[in-house]
Amino acid sequence: MSVKVGVNGYGTIGRRVADAILAQDDMSLTGVVKRSPDYIALYAAKQGINIYAPDSGSAEKFDRAGIKISGVLEDLLSKVDVIVDATPGGVGATYKPLYERYGVKQIYQGGEKPEVAEASFSTLCNYEESIGRKSLRVVSCNTTGLLRLICTLRRHFKVEKVRAVLIRRAADPREIKKGPINSINLNPVQLPSHHARDVNTVVPDVNIVTAAVVVPTTLMHVHQVTLVFKEPVRRDDVIAVLDDAPRIVLINSKRTGIKSTAQLIESARDVRRRNDIPELVVFEDSIGVEGNEVMLFQAVHQESIVVPENIDAIRALAGLARTADETIRKTDTSLGLYRRFWLER
Ligand code: NAD
Repeated sequence: MSVKVGVNGYGTIGRRVADAILAQDDMSLTGVVKRSPDYIALYAAKQGINIYAPDSGSAEKFDRAGIKISGVLEDLLSKVDVIVDATPGGVGATYKPLYERYGVKQIYQGGEKPEVAEASFSTLCNYEESIGRKSLRVVSCNTTGLLRLICTLRRHFKVEKVRAVLIRRAADPREIKKGPINSINLNPVQLPSHHARDVNTVVPDVNIVTAAVVVPTTLMHVHQVTLVFKEPVRRDDVIAVLDDAPRIVLINSKRTGIKSTAQLIESARDVRRRNDIPELVVFEDSIGVEGNEVMLFQAVHQESIVVPENIDAIRALAGLARTADETIRKTDTSLGLYRRFWLER
């Protein structure tokens, strides 16, 4: 069975999700919705992807630019089973009544409020409970990074509480209106930050507190995470669990020389399209253990980390895979995710 999928909003996330759908054998990309006829629309056209405009006003702009389109959003909605909304935060909710009218299942992104969907979603935490739902919200890049770590460790150890400081990139590389900034912005000033609440939309029983600052970089986020367990843990056991987990890659700075997001991205430039790193990167030699406490640094590539979870969310809504393991195997093989640092064998 091939599930027909449309993508509304073809920017940083939408473009990557559309490409990822094209790499699957159990779903097909019916088309994408693009607002303006720019170089990104030309990229879609060059790949043979059907482009739709949000409405007839935008459709005229494509006509004037000489880019062929296949119709407007409502035409796309009449053809698909699932719509992935990747419009800017808050815009997705305004489309919800239209999606409902066409009876399509919906995936929203982390910029939307949790109430937009039946449930917030992160594969390693709640894939099985999400099967057959009508709508899901794939949580943000930061929350996805935190949840991959927490849900992996929770399978093996009793987690009592989590404390995390998020050092966030100011803008994505293509966002010329947002940065760079010469500042460290408290984001937000009031503590704790909202990121902990977002983690709790998926795993309500985790005691977590977060703080966040924004720094002048576009490459990646870095988190300093401290996990307190109910019992003392051994460093080797933590490393073994993370080493064995899907979607988490341990990087050893002594072996690789990598101590920064710049070097991480540089290493991905040699092996990955768009230098994407959809894996959560945990710096192996940052891992410190003091009795019940484990502390570490991890890095999150904001542009790509949520892409595998979007593909899994489509499988959950459409009932295409019965377990998290099954969808992870399919998604990670088709997208070429690594289990070890990509330049080491
Ligand atoms: P983006 O600005 O790169 O892309 C959004 C796209 O939607 C743009 O092409 C824009 O032209 C288009 N658009 C705007 N209004 C529209 C409308 N009314 N109808 C159709 N298309 C419209 O944004 P993004 O970074 O891809 O973010 C999309 C969502 O993903 C947000 O909820 C965001 O919070 C979330 N997210 C972003 C990141 C990230 O770091 N970029 C990471 C994880 C999640």
